[in-house]
Amino acid sequence: MTRDLVASGSADLVVVGSGIVGLGAAYAAVRRGLSVIVVDRTDRPVGATIRNFGHICIGTQMGRAREFADTTRGIWLQLAADAGFWVRESGTLIAARNVGELAVLERAAGEAGAADDVRMLSAQALRERAPLREGTVIGGAFIASDLQTNPREAADAIVRHLSDLGVEFRFRTAVTGVSGARVETTRGTIDAGRVVVAVGHDVDQLLPDLAESLGVVRCALDMMRLGATMPRAFDAPLLTGWSLLRYGRFADYPETAALRERMHAERPDLAALDLNQMYTQLPDGTLILGDSHAKAVQPGPFQPESAFGAFVDEARALLDIDDIRVIERWQGVYASGSDEFLIEEPEPGLHVIAATTGIGMTTGLGLAEHTLRNTIERTPQLAQGGTA
Ligand SMILES: Cc1cc2nc3c(=O)[nH]c(=O)nc-3n(C[C@H](O)[C@H](O)[C@H](O)COP(=O)(O)OP(=O)(O)OC[C@H]3O[C@@H](n4cnc5c(N)ncnc54)[C@H](O)[C@@H]3O)c2cc1C
Repeated sequence: MTRDLVASGSADLVVVGSGIVGLGAAYAAVRRGLSVIVVDRTDRPVGATIRNFGHICIGTQMGRAREFADTTRGIWLQLAADAGFWVRESGTLIAARNVGELAVLERAAGEAGAADDVRMLSAQALRERAPLREGTVIGGAFIASDLQTNPREAADAIVRHLSDLGVEFRFRTAVTGVSGARVETTRGTIDAGRVVVAVGHDVDQLLPDLAESLGVVRCALDMMRLGATMPRAFDAPLLTGWSLLRYGRFADYPETAALRERMHAERPDLAALDLNQMYTQLPDGTLILGDSHAKAVQPGPFQPESAFGAFVDEARALLDIDDIRVIERWQGVYASGSDEFLIEEPEPGLHVIAATTGIGMTTGLGLAEHTLRNTIERTPQLAQGGTA
């Protein structure tokens, strides 16, 4: 046996996975005085948490997702201040290109209690806040509560901050088995007071029966980053009618059903990509855009060029941009299930959590906080900051 294989240890909480959900669990625990070990098979976070838009879309959520999102908002702001990374209280802009899209936004803005959260914007007001091509929009809306971060930097900064707070990270260490009191890894066994499994879409590799029973599969997304000349910067992330078809807040309106039918009839090519046409601009001025969606237990790795062509064509049609340079293309994968969240305790002390739609940046920190608060309140030994 090599020296690495006998390395072990113990902690009040062992977290499997250093994506945003695992980092959220570690943060919730270390703030409460618990000892924490985070184990990840990669050398640093490189999963869904760094491959996304960095759009923390709180105002588009409903129900439990909104509760987690509201909690998540405060934690992002606190972490950004303490760990020193970029988060802006940008809100979100939504462009309406036709009366069908406008009708969905008017419905949302007209709902009780929406006044502070969703505000209608004129086409001119929208064009003052994003580089939209003249004549492309007839109006839009602004969602006030949303945030934006740079996903390429946030996770690393949180890892550094949590390390300073005393969290131990074991990277390049794969977890091969979990129970409520023990984690088996490729570098030895760790005893644990509690275990949080936050491995996102790879839950089927660690707990295949649980993943199968809940119907958790993978959703693969094509994404790209552009450089371009544009007359002004984006004040906020920009969503379009395709986004309205996806998010919980708008999903059940009759106006949305009518819009879906119209968009699918007019653009079957984009509907086949399961497009969410949206844009986030990074602090360096480059633009993240996407995305397409393909769900399967194991989606293929090959990214169709037609998707990237569609992203660029749609961007040219909507945005007043020129000199487009494609800087990067990549595939992101997240967990997808029939419910919005996976929250299971298959045996005492073993917590398995994931966002099972593409809203983990918006809800993951709140989901983790909620899980830790519940488990610590149920465990007097942990509540006193005790050691496992
Ligand atoms: C392209 C794309 C765009 C998105 N856009 C947005 C957005 O704008 N807003 C939003 O809210 N959400 C968005 N999402 C969703 C969001 O990114 C995810 O929901 C979230 O990042 C999931 O976090 P996680 O911690 O569960 O998973 P991950 O970040 O994937 O982390 C899981 C970690 O577990 C580790 N792991 C897995 N198995 C093991 C094992 N056996 N042993 C050790 N380690 C293991 C992996 O190495 C990985 O580091 C997007 C996702 C994608 C892919």
